[in-house]
Amino acid sequence: MMSWQDELSNLGKMAADVPLSSRTTLGIGGAATWLFRPSNEANMQQAMRLIPQTLHTFPLGRGSNLLIADSGIDGLVLDLSDVHMCRDDGLELVVGAGMRMGKLAQKAATLGLSGLEFMATVPGDVGGGIAMNAGAFGQQVSDVLHSVEVLQRNGKSQSIQGEDLNMAYRFTALPAGALITQARFSLQQGDTESIRQNMREMRQKRSASQPLASPNCGSVFKNPAGDFAARLIESVGLKGASEGNASISDVHANFIINEGGASCEDVLTLMRLAKDKVEQKFAVELEHEVRLVGCVL
Ligand SMILES: Cc1cc2nc3c(=O)[nH]c(=O)nc-3n(C[C@H](O)[C@H](O)[C@H](O)COP(=O)(O)OP(=O)(O)OC[C@H]3O[C@@H](n4cnc5c(N)ncnc54)[C@H](O)[C@@H]3O)c2cc1C
Repeated sequence: MMSWQDELSNLGKMAADVPLSSRTTLGIGGAATWLFRPSNEANMQQAMRLIPQTLHTFPLGRGSNLLIADSGIDGLVLDLSDVHMCRDDGLELVVGAGMRMGKLAQKAATLGLSGLEFMATVPGDVGGGIAMNAGAFGQQVSDVLHSVEVLQRNGKSQSIQGEDLNMAYRFTALPAGALITQARFSLQQGDTESIRQNMREMRQKRSASQPLASPNCGSVFKNPAGDFAARLIESVGLKGASEGNASISDVHANFIINEGGASCEDVLTLMRLAKDKVEQKFAVELEHEVRLVGCVL
């Protein structure tokens, strides 16, 4: 009898003991016990029925919002990079969860569809963008998300309307264990050239204000109501502070940089320092935006 691992090998790429550091933008993370990359959505659904129900699964997008423990992920990491179809349906776009948000923004611009411009500046996949309710420049995923298709751990698919996901600032209420496979976005008619110009301006603003040349995971903390995490961290004198091979960016204080070979613990130590100092001085409790996987603050 074939093992479930062998069966998954027939539905896509299956590998054991896969280092995750090269799959996160921060460049940190130990190995996953297994990593599965289905060839398409139908194969993912079939695979879901074969994966033992007790096995821990973890959906991985571009890894641009993750701090993964140096001990890695004990379980099966699901990588939907090959699920990236994109179909236009009037003013709507139907998209595979593995499509890069930047690519989707370009595609929408080419079609003269407006609403996804902000995605040009967020380095994640559609699935990760929805799970995080990513946003920038006053726009966020929940503004344009019509509905998602998710796969449950028992292999059943379910369609969920955007308004039923209770999306809020960097929050989406997905059912436990659900894997987003597809999304439908409702957009507006626009002009290709002005959409592209808008995206160019957003990208320029980004590269002027963020340390994009160094490995990082974007904003480490959420902005507290009415304030900015970066301003608070800078005000307690932590810009440029370092621990091991990680440092708080001297360009943007809400970014932590991997200077090369940083450990998960290096980053956590800096996060604790920032959290403690900001709480002491401003009585504000910073909440982390980066998802912690296998580690605690
Ligand atoms: C330079 C830089 C700039 C950034 N700027 C912004 C910004 O302006 N705005 C912003 O909001 N964020 C920003 N981020 C953070 C990050 O890009 C976003 O949170 C993005 O949405 C994460 O997408 P991802 O594909 O990388 O997800 P990952 O980091 O891979 O995963 C994030 C979470 O989503 C879950 N997930 C991923 N795919 C699926 C799926 N298919 N189904 C279910 N769950 C899934 C993961 O399990 C994890 O819990 C930035 C990051 C960097 C490095």
